Amino acid sequence: MDKSPLTLQPGVLNGPEARAVFADAKIHGYALLGVNCIDSGSVNAVLHAASEAKTVAFIQASDGGATFFGGKPQGDPIAGAIRMAYDVHRASVQYGVPVILHTDHASRKKLPWLEGLIAEGEKFYARTGRPLFTSHMVDLSDEELPAIIKVSQEWLTRLAALDMMLETEVGPTGGEEDGVDNSALDTEKLYTTPEDIATAFLALNPISSCFTIAAAFGNVHGVYKPGNVVLKPSLLGEFQAETARHLDLDPDAHPVDFVFHGGSGSSQTEIDVAIANGVVKMNYDTGTQAARFHALGEYVFAHPHAALCTLHPVTGDPLKKQFDPRAALAASEAGMTAEVLKMYRMLNCNNILAS
Ligand SMILES: [Zn+2]
Repeated sequence: MDKSPLTLQPGVLNGPEARAVFADAKIHGYALLGVNCIDSGSVNAVLHAASEAKTVAFIQASDGGATFFGGKPQGDPIAGAIRMAYDVHRASVQYGVPVILHTDHASRKKLPWLEGLIAEGEKFYARTGRPLFTSHMVDLSDEELPAIIKVSQEWLTRLAALDMMLETEVGPTGGEEDGVDNSALDTEKLYTTPEDIATAFLALNPISSCFTIAAAFGNVHGVYKPGNVVLKPSLLGEFQAETARHLDLDPDAHPVDFVFHGGSGSSQTEIDVAIANGVVKMNYDTGTQAARFHALGEYVFAHPHAALCTLHPVTGDPLKKQFDPRAALAASEAGMTAEVLKMYRMLNCNNILAS
């Protein structure tokens, strides 16, 4: 289907604006790429790609990524995420790109991180009438459904008051990412049931429609060898149908906005099926980590003398232009931009903005 272009201002979007993008994504069959960023270089790489592709950038940080952004001496995910947020607010305008700014997995023990961001966000909202972040994620997927629903309801209420969105996880993502290790979980746990999704949706929707659900359909974080866990994106269609049934909607109504975690390494067919079943955002971390580091590696291997010396060991020529970190980091950033652009094509989210 042809895309009718979205009209959005550059800068960080609020929850209702993000929800409108997701509604557009479901109509036109695309998903946004949620890229984990750790520093201004990775933020620039994503904004560069989004500007070129005329799409909405989706920038997110885990608490580990946010801590890195803030610098080692601070070691503080709250201070780091706030620094990143202010950087993204300015950089998105500079690049002319609308951005959904989000924080990734916050388990129960990481909720104080979000409390700190809400405290800063309330001040920012009072000053500007806009949220500091578009959305936060609450991940209680290692707890029972009633606990997931209770905490998600509380957070959705608080976020809605700041025109923000909630992402909540119902059913765990397998594998390991940033210290959250689900690699030993029983395989059957890696698939959410249709009833759980419908129950969570019906409990949250009366509070605000500005929420997304990360469901488990055999998705796994990180790089892994093919094994027992099979990705079943068609399950998302069953989750949608069950939720629609409870709402007395048409079975194809697709009321739920789904998020696909552990997207790195997925095939085009798997992505297409996920999007056809209501995935509006795919998380992507491992793939861009590899792309950024491999581009840096290629630069180093192409300039082996500069990697170790200031003068060429045989000719004595200065190697300053080659060891200037800007040259290496620009090559690394370009590698990440290229990977993001490749994924935008796979997710069909190019050219969604009016130019
Ligand atoms: Zn994830």
